[in-house]
Amino acid sequence: MHLDLLEILRCPYCGGRLELVTSLFHRTDGDTITDGVLGCQCCVFPVVDGIPVLHLLPAAVKARELVEAGTPALALQAMVGLDDDEHARAFEAAAAVSTSTFKDLVDAMGPSLEGGYFVYRFSDPTFVVADAVVRAVASTVLRTGGRALDICGGSGHLTRILVPLSSPPPVLADLFFPKIWLARRFTAPGAVPVCCDGNAPLPFARGAFDFAMCSDAFMFIWMKRLFIGEMFRAVEGSARATVLINHTHNQLVWSPSHGQALTPSGYSNLFETAPARLFGESTLFDNVVTGDVLDLTQVSGPAALDAEVALTAIASRVEDVFAKHVLTPPALLGGEWRINPLYKLESHGDRIHGTLTFPSPDYEDEYGACRRYLPDEVVIDRSALSTLQSGGTSADLTDLIRRRAIVALPKGYV
Ligand SMILES: [Zn+2]
Repeated sequence: MHLDLLEILRCPYCGGRLELVTSLFHRTDGDTITDGVLGCQCCVFPVVDGIPVLHLLPAAVKARELVEAGTPALALQAMVGLDDDEHARAFEAAAAVSTSTFKDLVDAMGPSLEGGYFVYRFSDPTFVVADAVVRAVASTVLRTGGRALDICGGSGHLTRILVPLSSPPPVLADLFFPKIWLARRFTAPGAVPVCCDGNAPLPFARGAFDFAMCSDAFMFIWMKRLFIGEMFRAVEGSARATVLINHTHNQLVWSPSHGQALTPSGYSNLFETAPARLFGESTLFDNVVTGDVLDLTQVSGPAALDAEVALTAIASRVEDVFAKHVLTPPALLGGEWRINPLYKLESHGDRIHGTLTFPSPDYEDEYGACRRYLPDEVVIDRSALSTLQSGGTSADLTDLIRRRAIVALPKGYV
């Protein structure tokens, strides 16, 4: 972490500024802290492999003790959650090799991380909607500069979109250290990772941001009232202050991985100081799949919202946010164009035939709506694909990119 980050970090518990405790073990490289201990008036927190860990859950306490003992590699293992030597060795070996992919490292970390579906994340329907919403809202709010916060951003799949839009760079905050560690290396290089607990006050100074978002995670936060209050504190004072909650489940409609969802009126209730507009995700999904415009002028009545599986809430001081946004095709964002891994491929001379094949019935249950844009079968001209992959353009593939049969994956992802 760069020393500049200390300007916006605050202790989540006493609210005080944090400083590097120079009397304890630390490693720095110029203005960057690689490993060390940060202290405030009430406690101490570790910096592990350049990532500040600003909570006091058991792994963080253990990691801080291991940093203090001068064993930062063991502190990293503690934060990654490697509880046996075999996984620890596999992870250490994979992490040290520059050609290891996101998938290699996830495999080395153990079976539970990411549930295996991360490979398909860039084309699942939840992502496709959130991608359109984040691009429309963040690019409007941050048009004249400003900093973005992605809280509970996990492995950074959406933070990736914020990297070119946020100046200074966006902060990616999540409780789960391995995810933000992977995000820094693969999915959201350029974002600033911070490990913190969404069920506690956020470890940031008041008004450090202009745009704060939480995607696909709010229903898993128990302290929702605190969390929303903290998002508003993070953007307080900004003339462009915006809070965005993407894809949060509706208590009235069952869904897989339901979480502790609220009703639409329950969500509205949380926005006491700045009313949020609620959007039904199915309407936004229809916009993305069938049209050229994401319509954030639409207003749904209570009955329509009550019937939605998932909701998006936006509170913004920027009136232009609530407009019709022209949808632009998926961008490369420093990644590489690949045939969507949901296609089973066969080679036929100079063409590749792909058949849409779901990895499991569970996946199809939860994400089968991707059939609305992913064709059942695709035929891809090999030379057009290699032109695209070597930085050229191919009009033949434009529609497959728009339909996400060809996706921009982070470099070294799979
Ligand atoms: Zn403190």
